[in-house]
Amino acid sequence: MIRIENVSKSFGGLQAVKDVSFEVAQGSITGLIGPNGAGKSTLFNIVAGLFPPTSGRIVLDGQDITGLPTHELFHRGLVRTFQIPHEFSQMTVRENLMVVPPEQSGENLFNSWLRWGRVREEDTKVLERVDEVLDFLEISHVADELAGNLSGGQKKLLDLGRTMMTDAKMVLLDEPGAGVNRTLLGKIREAIRRLNTERGYTFCLIEHDMDLISQLCDPVHVMANGELIASGPMSEIRQNAEVREAYLGG
Ligand code: ADP
Ligand code: MG
Repeated sequence: MIRIENVSKSFGGLQAVKDVSFEVAQGSITGLIGPNGAGKSTLFNIVAGLFPPTSGRIVLDGQDITGLPTHELFHRGLVRTFQIPHEFSQMTVRENLMVVPPEQSGENLFNSWLRWGRVREEDTKVLERVDEVLDFLEISHVADELAGNLSGGQKKLLDLGRTMMTDAKMVLLDEPGAGVNRTLLGKIREAIRRLNTERGYTFCLIEHDMDLISQLCDPVHVMANGELIASGPMSEIRQNAEVREAYLGG
């Protein structure tokens, strides 16, 4: 579904990503791991259109999307969540879900955010979808809480919920498990799994929690110092000498 072709990115003299190539197959939950500073988030930023690569290409469904802006990618069904959730803290959970209704997906995100109030009054389909998402993620009990009052894990669930309000088909998740307690981590894991199996979402996820990675992801790609150093199922990755060395700082 996504093909990353020979992507490199330099920030001044620092080469953050070096000639990385791999694919994210349709229907997969593909993992991306590696020590801090490996270049994982930079690669995500390039795929998600935050900035272009210094060289190389990103291909989505056979089309070159290199350098396309985020809202254009959103229109094509590619969505990314952030390491730190970007919720609107002064709005309720329910309102947060309303700001990205599916009917607006062709528009610039910013415009659809501005229009959310109008959407709320006009479109009962959106309201129904919000209830469905709240139910799916089991966060109905906090629907009317201000998003700013949620726990870190609940904010991550809300972030997933916002991708569910779009017609996303390819979702990039940056550390969905970071700072989340065990119970909520299980919920997030199951939400990702169900979105994949029941809704057909394709995922590429960056994560440090190796349990979460081995439970969800196949294949897994490993980056270190900007380079792709290994790819394969987690059972093989665990045995890889170069990977072990990278994590041990050898
Ligand atoms: P990871 O997500 O794997 O921890 P990053 O992609 O965030 O790694 O960072 C890779 C390297 O690129 C790091 O050395 C980081 O300091 C550097 N880097 C990331 N973003 C920028 C930026 N916007 N400007 C300059 N350097 C950056
Ligand atoms: Mg990162």
